[in-house]
Amino acid sequence: MSRIVYVNGDYIPEEEATVSIFDRGFLMADGVYEVTSVLGGKLIDFDGHAKRLERSLAELDMPSPCTMDELLEIHRQLVEKNGIDEGLVYLQVTRGSDGDRDFVFPDPATTKPTLVLFTQNKPGLADSPAAKKGAKVISVPDIRWHRRDIKTVQLLYPSMAKMMAKKAGCDDAWLVEDGFVTEGSSNNAYIVKGNKIITRELSNDILHGITRAAVLKLAAEAQMEVEERNFTIAEAQEADEAFTTSASAFVMPVVEIDGATLGDGTPGKIALRLREIYLDEMRKAAV
Ligand code: PLP
Repeated sequence: MSRIVYVNGDYIPEEEATVSIFDRGFLMADGVYEVTSVLGGKLIDFDGHAKRLERSLAELDMPSPCTMDELLEIHRQLVEKNGIDEGLVYLQVTRGSDGDRDFVFPDPATTKPTLVLFTQNKPGLADSPAAKKGAKVISVPDIRWHRRDIKTVQLLYPSMAKMMAKKAGCDDAWLVEDGFVTEGSSNNAYIVKGNKIITRELSNDILHGITRAAVLKLAAEAQMEVEERNFTIAEAQEADEAFTTSASAFVMPVVEIDGATLGDGTPGKIALRLREIYLDEMRKAAV
């Protein structure tokens, strides 16, 4: 069934949605995005995603297409119009089109940003079979640009990393720079040693995950120990557990890293507990 999508003020069937060939998102990857999950027809951590969007826009001197209240309303309308119970809302803002190709940014007074949103229906998102099995990951070099804290649509390398993982018979890739894991191809990476959860500290080297922030807060509230520091693939292979976090997969246990099985090869207790706490608490706070 065709979706109703949102493009620059209009709710229209996906087949009718168009963006200019001169749009800078298309020509230059000059755009930012957010993905917000939907559980029970409600938005998970909308506030976190809206704040990060504002930050991404500000870092790139890109005008905001509308207020965050208007954005919330668009999200809600799309969830309702498409009857989404479990799934995702994808949002993208680009610097728009001034009708030609140029490296120089167009004048924001005359060129409005492009705003596109669409839903992805994913029944069973929370009760995912993948989370019960756990993910196998490979490591690949992190050759992305150095502003990974900005959530841009430049996703070619993460996409290639994911393909390398698939070719190796695995589910995902962890990116490694200067000997240390930065993050997953589309998630933040963690290891667990004893009762301690270890994850890289925030910097421009990684995306400041909205799920990461929520999970670390909930872990601290549950008296779990958290250490924010770099770790290597070798250390991860020796860890008791590993997992990733993202808005679309929540807390995802990792059971294999570059061919080394973690523990008994099944999802770890702490990862599963965190997934449960996260889903419970975020459902309660959903809007
Ligand atoms: N790191 C990268 C590179 C990502 O692409 C993502 C999500 O898309 C994340 C981390 C997780 O961020 P969030 O929890 O906000 O989805």
